[in-house]
Amino acid sequence: MKQDLDYYFPIQTQTACTSKWGWSTIWLNKGTTSSCHRCHEFNIPLDDFASFHNVPRKIKNRQDMLQGIWPGDGCEYCRDIEQAGGFSDRMHNNDIPGMSPLELKQNPTEVYVTPTTLEVFAENTCNFKCVYCNWTLSSRIEQEDKQFGSEIFPPSGQLKRQSPDDAILSKEKTKDLYEQFFQWLEDNVQKLVRLHLLGGETFLHHDLMNRTIDLLERKPSTGLQLCIFSNFNPPDKYFKLYIDKIKYLWQQGNIGRFDLTASIDCWGPQAEYVRFGLDCKKFEENFAFAAEQPEDFLWLNVNQTVSSFTMKTMPDLINMFNKYNKHRHIGHYAMLVDGFSFMRPEVFAYETWEQTWSKIYSSMRSESIDDQQAIKIMSGLQSVMRKTTEHNHKQIEKLYKYYDEIDRRRNTHWRDLWPELVI
Ligand code: SF4
Ligand code: SF4
Repeated sequence: MKQDLDYYFPIQTQTACTSKWGWSTIWLNKGTTSSCHRCHEFNIPLDDFASFHNVPRKIKNRQDMLQGIWPGDGCEYCRDIEQAGGFSDRMHNNDIPGMSPLELKQNPTEVYVTPTTLEVFAENTCNFKCVYCNWTLSSRIEQEDKQFGSEIFPPSGQLKRQSPDDAILSKEKTKDLYEQFFQWLEDNVQKLVRLHLLGGETFLHHDLMNRTIDLLERKPSTGLQLCIFSNFNPPDKYFKLYIDKIKYLWQQGNIGRFDLTASIDCWGPQAEYVRFGLDCKKFEENFAFAAEQPEDFLWLNVNQTVSSFTMKTMPDLINMFNKYNKHRHIGHYAMLVDGFSFMRPEVFAYETWEQTWSKIYSSMRSESIDDQQAIKIMSGLQSVMRKTTEHNHKQIEKLYKYYDEIDRRRNTHWRDLWPELVI
């Protein structure tokens, strides 16, 4: 069954979400899967990787959505934004054609379906130690934990498989699942609309990159949108090498387009603290290189995680990428930090952010429909923050404790960078 890129999600209940039907995120070193990256993770049966998209809890979530019920399991993120009057990811994604499984054409209440978007976190090799990340995704955090102990990482029970009770799989089991994933891709890549590869830092995952490129040489997927998330700070030779290889795939007609998504939250010293390992100058050089690529080949995006520490210099980040979107579109997507509730801006009273919001909106472009969608998503986040009228001192104490420990480990000084958050 080939994908239909003009087909819209047909289910119209108050809670139904195209991602719940069409999207699977997979963590191969944990053996888990979720519907989108903010939903709860469920175990993938280790001897039956191919069932990842239709594990029992996902089926139950789809049945709830058919009834117009919020299913829980992480979808509270969208529920809360919508209940605050904002524009959620669910609303955004339901407006995008081509993401719906084609089984819904035959039966619009079908709950056993084939994914259209597959997002894969393959392993944890990474050159960064972002403050909201953990050792299952970053080998540098893993090393740091070995040196200092892991009392502040991981943040919650979220990292564990439900059973057996281990946070990540053994090397052998991960390898086995990795092979099952590639077998699944061999058989199904031509049914996918989007394939997202993530890390760690994806441009450091050479086996993943080379095998995927090789597979797409053998199995042309003319409509496929291949998407890579990167911190834009891998060694130059790999960044350019893989972009050239993917460009060749596109020139041969083996993929429809390449989405290169830069993970970056704010700008300057604050960004280099939050995404420890980041060199903003190097980031901008690579960003400029990507922005020079033909627009019909490479779609350039910025993906931001919003937390108390990223708010202040978000306008500087937007002004940076505005230098490059005069002659081409740059996608802009923002989401609230996941998993570490004390990092969320809502732990401070809304007045803390009032002026920053004005600066954010005045730096954002508004000419195109995509620009307007980005503003709508941003205003959804603002609606959630608006609900906080007083500081949450308990959470703020946790925040201080966490960053004091980060400073101890990294010889950094967060109070110098965010004096206004010391209350
Ligand atoms: S969290 Fe939102 S976007 Fe993700 S599956 Fe749930 S409703 Fe859909
Ligand atoms: S770049 Fe990504 S994987 Fe690496 S530490 Fe940051 S968030 Fe984690």
